[in-house]
This record gives sequence, structure tokens and C-alpha cells, in this order.
Amino acid sequence: MTNPFDLTGRRALVTGSSRGIGHAIARSLLEAGAHVVVHGRDTATVESTAATLAQEFGQDAVSTAAFDITDEQSVISGIRGVQAGGPIDILVNNAGMQHREPMLDVSLENWERVIRTDLTSAFLVGRTVARAMVERGSGAIVNICSVQTDLARPTIGAYTAAKGGLRNLTKAMTAEWAGSGVRVNGVAPGYIRTELTQALVDDPDFNAWVLGRTPVGRWGEPEDIGGAVVWLSSDASRFVSGQVVFVDGGMTAVV
Ligand code: NDP
Repeated sequence: MTNPFDLTGRRALVTGSSRGIGHAIARSLLEAGAHVVVHGRDTATVESTAATLAQEFGQDAVSTAAFDITDEQSVISGIRGVQAGGPIDILVNNAGMQHREPMLDVSLENWERVIRTDLTSAFLVGRTVARAMVERGSGAIVNICSVQTDLARPTIGAYTAAKGGLRNLTKAMTAEWAGSGVRVNGVAPGYIRTELTQALVDDPDFNAWVLGRTPVGRWGEPEDIGGAVVWLSSDASRFVSGQVVFVDGGMTAVV
């Protein structure tokens, strides 16, 4: 019997996979047999992460791309470069950013920077990749959301708006592309220990809040996210589209 989670022969682009959650997702997809394109803006970090993964999984399993996901021309030429090596079967829209400041003080510039990085980029990269997926009649897209897709906290208004928007973008993409064989889903991580959250891990009050608020009683690790992404990228989820799976240790299940 074939393994429905097997990704052998599929090519995956994971945006923002040079570090953090994206890096761990890249590793999970490689373990499931996929070829992974490691991505970020900083070429040196992209190359060094890809070299480490290539040592473990083989040179042919990994390639690289460096482009800014917020700039349309960079996205178009960056994706063209990736497609020169073969079609993209799986896209994980993972790259993102955070900005913490009370909404009464946030400048329009900072608001727009977050919306552009965390929401508009998924539209730009998503539709550029989906054009070829629709033409081929197959593909899987996974948008990395957040518990802020569902719940708000003070000082991260733009992020909350962007991640909430990403849930509905996931539905909108499903409405337009699922009929052409392109499934689109979201994975919403809870509080995960990465560079993005190190300051929060180091803050005793915030740390205690996360531990108390998370039923499984710990921070998530980047490695906790890959299983859901592999499932949503593979034939094991072939009738699932437009959904967001919360991988949050139970945080959004309780008050
Ligand atoms: P990190 O800051 O650790 O990594 C971000 C990655 O995205 C890097 O590879 C970075 O590369 C890339 N990136 C950022 N901006 C751009 C850009 N404009 N163009 C291209 N690449 C870019 O983030 P995390 O791993 O913590 O987060 C990854 C995703 O998970 C984000 O969408 C985040 O919102 C989400 N998430 C994170 C949680 C957490 O607790 N950490 C919880 C819930 C969701 P470079 O700097 O070279 O551009």
C-alpha cells in the first residue's frame, strides 16, 4: 500500500525557510521525500541553511531562492527562477514579521509594512505560483497563520488584522482554485520559540502567561509545525481545502 503522506517527486517552495518555523517546515517536507527550495531575503543565510540541509538529505534534495516577497517584480522574477529548475507542486507561504506597538501610536508606514509582509505577500507569491498550478491542474498551498488568526492581543493590531485576513484569503483561494486541482489550507501555530519570539520567552511575565494559557503547558517548538504542513501538502488531505488547522497546544480551545 502506498503511503498517502509520501512527498517523493514533489517540489516545495517554503518562503522564509532560512530560519525559524520555515526551516523546521523545510526539514519535515524533506523527511517526507520532497525536494525543498530554501528561501529568504538574505542570500548568505539561505545558502548556509540549504548547505546544512543538503548534507543531511543530499545535494539533489535542496535548492535555493532569495527574493523579497513584498515586491511584485522580485516575486515574479524569483518564482520564474525557481520554476526554471522544475514545477512547484507545494507552496508554503511562511515568511512573516511582527511589529509590537499600541495601535494609537502605530504609523501608517509600519501598519502597511506588516500587512504587506504578512498578508499581501501570500496573495503575490500565491497567485504567481498558482497560475502554473492551475495550468497543470494540481498543487497544494499552505498559508502559515497564527493564533492571531482567531484571537487578538494588545500591541499587535496590524499582525492580528493580517493573520485574520490570511484565513479568508485561504478561503478565497480555495473558492477560485480548488476546482482546478489546487488545494489551499492554513496552519496556525501557537506561541513557538524562535528569533521572532525570543524577547517574549525571556520576559518572565509573558512566559508565565503563555505557559498558563496553553493547555499542554509549554511553548511550541518549530518542529511541532511540520506534521500538519506535510499532511496538508500531501494526498492524505486530498479532500481538505479552505481550512485552518491550529497547532497551538490547545490555546484557542480554552478561555
Ligand atoms: P523568523 O523571524 O524566525 O523568520 C522569518 C523568515 O522569513 C526568515 O527566513 C526571513 O528571511 C523571511 N522573511 C521575512 N521577511 C521577508 C521578506 N520581506 N521577503 C522574503 N523573506 C522574508 O520568523 P518565524 O519562524 O518565527 O515565523 C515564521 C512564520 O510563522 C511567520 O509567518 C509568523 O507570523 C508565523 N508564526 C510565528 C509564531 C512564533 O511564535 N514564532 C507563532 C505563529 C505564527 P530574511 O530575514 O533573510 O528575509
